[in-house]
Amino acid sequence: MTKRDYYEVLEVSRDVSDKEIKGAFRTLARKNHPDKNPDDPDSESRFKEIQEAYAVLSNADQRRRYDMFGHEQPGGNPFGSGGFQGVNISMEDLFNGGFESFFSNFFSGATQRGARMSRGHDVLAHHRIPFEMLQNGGEREVELELLEACEDCGGNGAASPAAISSCAPCGGEGRITQTRKVGPFLQQMVSDCPHCMGDGRIIDKPCSACRGDGRQTRSRKLRFSVPPGVRDGTRLRMSGKGEPAHGGRGRAGDLYIQLAVDDHEWFERDGADLLMALPLGYPELLLGTTVELPHTDDEPLRIVVPAGSRPGDTLLIGGRGLPHRRMRGRGDITVLLKMHVPQKPSKETKKQVEALREKLSILEDDVEDEVRREARERRRNR
Ligand SMILES: [Zn+2]
Ligand SMILES: [Zn+2]
Repeated sequence: MTKRDYYEVLEVSRDVSDKEIKGAFRTLARKNHPDKNPDDPDSESRFKEIQEAYAVLSNADQRRRYDMFGHEQPGGNPFGSGGFQGVNISMEDLFNGGFESFFSNFFSGATQRGARMSRGHDVLAHHRIPFEMLQNGGEREVELELLEACEDCGGNGAASPAAISSCAPCGGEGRITQTRKVGPFLQQMVSDCPHCMGDGRIIDKPCSACRGDGRQTRSRKLRFSVPPGVRDGTRLRMSGKGEPAHGGRGRAGDLYIQLAVDDHEWFERDGADLLMALPLGYPELLLGTTVELPHTDDEPLRIVVPAGSRPGDTLLIGGRGLPHRRMRGRGDITVLLKMHVPQKPSKETKKQVEALREKLSILEDDVEDEVRREARERRRNR
């Protein structure tokens, strides 16, 4: 299959600005995200193609190289011998712009001298935590299928250290430089050594456990602590716990655990502060009441509603919200009072309320005054 032009993939012109490239990527990646197209088996390869184009064009160095050489770059595929592998970007990343960090490390190995050194890929795992966990934080354990250095060969891919030798034609550099005469010019071409495929080493007998890759997928248990009051979407970084580098040479990537906080049954959250709505019947608003609800700190939440409360009034309960992240203490809880109106009152109820109508209603002559008073009050509170 011939590779499509990266600019064509992102549907942009060749003189596009960096900002426009980002915008184009976001739009296309959202449209083609596999999660959004579960019935379209091609969306995954389209998504990957868009990612690859973005990875190259969003990197100033790589974009310049691509503009000069196209897909046939000297020094081989910029993503290493395996080509572009795609990254695990969620729809949420695309909306929040958190996808940039995925692309920033792709080419870090490209500038290193000598035989190909690479950095293992970063890995992103998603993890859900219950809302209640925000109160005190806590320990979590996940089991992930991750690439690790092969146990048998220690990551170098050879059956024994004696089975590795330096590649003679390239002197272990992994690259060869050819000088060609093009018209009046001497042109230097750097390319992957065909003898060792750019590796710089010759392995006479590959490790049988990993078939020479130096890496194995293994299920690994990881423990991490969730800080109290953590934000939804926070990424915990575990340095060097991502994929090991190819051939055991180079740094392992990082592992990120992105936390998604489950919704609470009734609280909305604004940082450390919590907001909830409390529906009350007319008698409770009129006469006052006390309501008790279970709370995230395991102490019942006591809400004292004073007599004469009105729907739309708010009550502030100080210091019972979530812990602040960077300072001591906790946020507050705001309780918004609502009025519960039965939707299907019985005949009997209607009759009884009807009997109270005269006592509880605003008299016709007073309506205008009440409207005026309400407006005044509303403006004063604004
Ligand atoms: Zn070689
Ligand atoms: Zn091995």
